[in-house]
Amino acid sequence: MNPTDPGTRRATFRFYGPLNDFLPHDLRQRDIPHDFLGTPAVKDRIERLGVPHTEVAALFINDQPAALHYLLRGGERVAVYPPTYHIPLPSLLPPPAGEARFVVDVNLGRLARLLRLMGFDTLYRNDWDDAEIAALSAREDRILLTRDRRLLMRSIVRHGYYVRSDQPLQQLREVLDRYHLQPRARPFARCSKCNGLVRAVDKAAVAPLLEPRTRRYYQHFWQCQQCGQVYWEGTHMPGLEALLEEAARP
Ligand SMILES: [Zn+2]
Repeated sequence: MNPTDPGTRRATFRFYGPLNDFLPHDLRQRDIPHDFLGTPAVKDRIERLGVPHTEVAALFINDQPAALHYLLRGGERVAVYPPTYHIPLPSLLPPPAGEARFVVDVNLGRLARLLRLMGFDTLYRNDWDDAEIAALSAREDRILLTRDRRLLMRSIVRHGYYVRSDQPLQQLREVLDRYHLQPRARPFARCSKCNGLVRAVDKAAVAPLLEPRTRRYYQHFWQCQQCGQVYWEGTHMPGLEALLEEAARP
């Protein structure tokens, strides 16, 4: 924008807490003068500065609570808060559907498998494009997890979270913390391969599917009701249970 344009107006933005993760280093933790033309919705300018609407839980304009569709006219002071600040107002974020369900972006396959292992209904495919993921999230009211902030800026996305870490277990911890899911985890309730529900089965029912050593040494078995995958103690990598327990600790 040409700052000498006579129609240029200015508002001052301040982002709090982890919302600063989205800003360039020189704009973090400080007032940001921001110029615009016309009367844009504050949501548009927040996203122009780099912060997806799915990360904004509270907004004050000139110290008054405001909504994301507020139209800026110039001269405002805009304070933007994440869900982790306990602002005593109804959150701007819509409440997630009763059961926390997820759709996970293509490059977060290990996080998807960990969420399934924790019992959360999690859709994932490595060949989806952005439009498909966003549409699925909207249609099924699923929380979209991604490391692509542009995906969260699509207007049809209501529930979404920008995953900060690139370490799968740390990512899992972030998601459990963000949605307060620790008490709702049901470890090993879902199939990590297909998201189907896993149930205990009699050994006799799955015996023909087992290797001789497995048949000999293990007595307790579980099977995915969707893809038929058989699980037993020791199917998962050693130490995984302890790692999941650690991630689930608030
Ligand atoms: Zn399965």
